[in-house]
Amino acid sequence: GEVSATAFSGRDWQEHLFNELGRFAPREAVLDTAAWEDVELREFLRLRLDCRCELGREEDFAPDRAMETARKQFRTGLEDLPGEAEAAVRACGGLLIYLYETQKTDLSHLTAFRYYTGGEFMELDLTARRNLELTETMRGKEKKGSLLWVLDKTKTPMGGRMLRSWLERPLLSVTDIDRRSSAVAALVDDTIRREELIAGMTGLGDMERLIGRIVYGTAGGRDLTSLRAAMEKLPNLKEQLSGFSDRRLTELTAELDTLDDISGDIAAAICDEPPFSVREGSIIRDGFNEEVDRLRHILKSGKGVMAEMEAKEKEKTGIRTLKIGYNKVFGYYIEVSNAFKEQVPETYIRKQTLVNGERFITQELKDLEHEILTASERVVALEYELFSALRQQIADNAGRIQKTAAAVAECDALCSFASVAVHNNFCRPEVDESGVIEIREGRHPVVEKVLKDSLFVPNDTFMGEKEERVAIITGPNMAGKSTYMRQVALIVLMAQMGSFVPAKYAHIGVVDRIFTRIGASDDLSAGQSTFMVEMTEVSDILHQATKNSLLILDEIGRGTSTFDGMAIARAVLEYCADKKTLGAKTLFATHYHELTEMENTLPGTVNYNIAVKRRGEDIIFLRKIIPGGADRSYGIEVAKLAGLPEKVVQRAKVILKELEDENGVQYVAARKETDQVSLDAM
Ligand code: ADP
Ligand code: MG
Repeated sequence: GEVSATAFSGRDWQEHLFNELGRFAPREAVLDTAAWEDVELREFLRLRLDCRCELGREEDFAPDRAMETARKQFRTGLEDLPGEAEAAVRACGGLLIYLYETQKTDLSHLTAFRYYTGGEFMELDLTARRNLELTETMRGKEKKGSLLWVLDKTKTPMGGRMLRSWLERPLLSVTDIDRRSSAVAALVDDTIRREELIAGMTGLGDMERLIGRIVYGTAGGRDLTSLRAAMEKLPNLKEQLSGFSDRRLTELTAELDTLDDISGDIAAAICDEPPFSVREGSIIRDGFNEEVDRLRHILKSGKGVMAEMEAKEKEKTGIRTLKIGYNKVFGYYIEVSNAFKEQVPETYIRKQTLVNGERFITQELKDLEHEILTASERVVALEYELFSALRQQIADNAGRIQKTAAAVAECDALCSFASVAVHNNFCRPEVDESGVIEIREGRHPVVEKVLKDSLFVPNDTFMGEKEERVAIITGPNMAGKSTYMRQVALIVLMAQMGSFVPAKYAHIGVVDRIFTRIGASDDLSAGQSTFMVEMTEVSDILHQATKNSLLILDEIGRGTSTFDGMAIARAVLEYCADKKTLGAKTLFATHYHELTEMENTLPGTVNYNIAVKRRGEDIIFLRKIIPGGADRSYGIEVAKLAGLPEKVVQRAKVILKELEDENGVQYVAARKETDQVSLDAM
């Protein structure tokens, strides 16, 4: 039942729109004519997001009509809207009309219109979302192996959705971040209450989905009993929550309505195990409604009811031989033998004369017969009526239930953060607007979980406002460059989600956006070459990043020839580092060792490499990031590790030697004494 709307304008409107669409990944989009004619938009929706597009009617999007539709639909959220929200209201109005026509059901649970603007959340583009594997892995598109997989220990479906939305929308305001992370901290500190809360939410059903079905009128008896079961867990949750003094948790305690009245009503009316269908009876609990009970009694003991009547008639008339029988011709009848003819009451209607007696019917008998024959139909109809009335009554309380469901969802997501923090040894980051990123013993939250044979080696990070803004990271393939850079990005993201982070200590100056350019993209399906994709992504980054952004640039220029690639890499690096152009915090991994020279000429840059140790002809990866450029690339050693035939390895060495001699240089630049010392010391 959530309705959110936003509008974009200005130079980068399209980019913002695409990012927002990417975040929601809609199944279906309803477009007005102008949007429909925007080929780029439709291609993006169709090809990138696999989303269906519908063309809405132009008049449905007309400002007056849209406003009127929205006014009729929403009770809150339309007051005090800024001028630019008009477009959002129009879109919403057109969409509502489309929904009225296609859904053909009640939409009265959509009561609140929420207009939001950028600035509240960190915008993440599709590339960053994918590269950082926030909710699914790049290759397998699976949750396992993603950040969500590590962080999501929620117990309820609504908690799961809430946590996912936090993951996709990290915060920007330090106050908002602190509010969330102090709630997490309070939960971390009180193990007993946290575990109680978690136990209390385990198995708690999807109240949001259930209330949706109830409002739509598609909920059955089982949905109501599920809702009741969920609601019955609420008092305990409220009790546990009320034990915390943290501000957000206190607010949640207040927002959580235990809904006893509603669960009580369901318990009274609906039996414990109602059938799947609502039109077959057996839904209403015995004792809830007299008429239902009476009809059920008739149904269960049709014969018994007739026997009761027979006994009653015998007594009333004093006719000892009076019998109630049944035949196909006129149904139930009362038979009186000739000896008692005189005692037959006037109300008896003669139907048939036999040799030794007569058969009668009475109005009462016919009524009862009718009841027996129709009881089944009527009890089903009545039960449905009672059920529908209850369902409607619950639907009228949808707002209360939704609000409580949201409180449960948030509590669940917060507990998940807390629980993950405790079990994975995360720390609470200090978050501010210092513009500094300082991490001690940081780890990659996912890689540390999936490493089987080895321990994850923690690494420190420092990126300042002025000093060490740009880190040029070198080191052989497989050394751990990409892992390290993603780790920094993920720690910053997690901090801005309000989560604890995998580190001993972290001080995170809020970044406005995180951009990534990592590895070969899988966008080949869209028909672009790898290099073209790479350059498009780099170009997007350089256009959109600000000095408050964090850039992760991994092996820029790899997709083209060495000299082209190096030239582009160098120019990009200069552009990022220079305060006059961008001056953003940048982690720049490169296999062009020549670029390490830039440390001396480009202010704010600093060289790092990931240490390896030589042992004879082999190398050992130490996974430690240390200051200075790598001394050489160790390509041949890595190839050997990968199992290249010994003959090929030896031959490669000879060729390398020849090349180096020919050029009069060692084929890698920037060997420094200091590196050598630090390497040997390890
Ligand atoms: P590069 O980008 O330098 O080629 P990667 O970052 O892809 O290297 O890392 C290669 C492998 O090394 C990873 O798949 C991971 O298993 C391992 N690795 C990376 N960093 C670490 C670390 N800090 N501790 C332990 N293993 C690591
Ligand atoms: Mg790499």
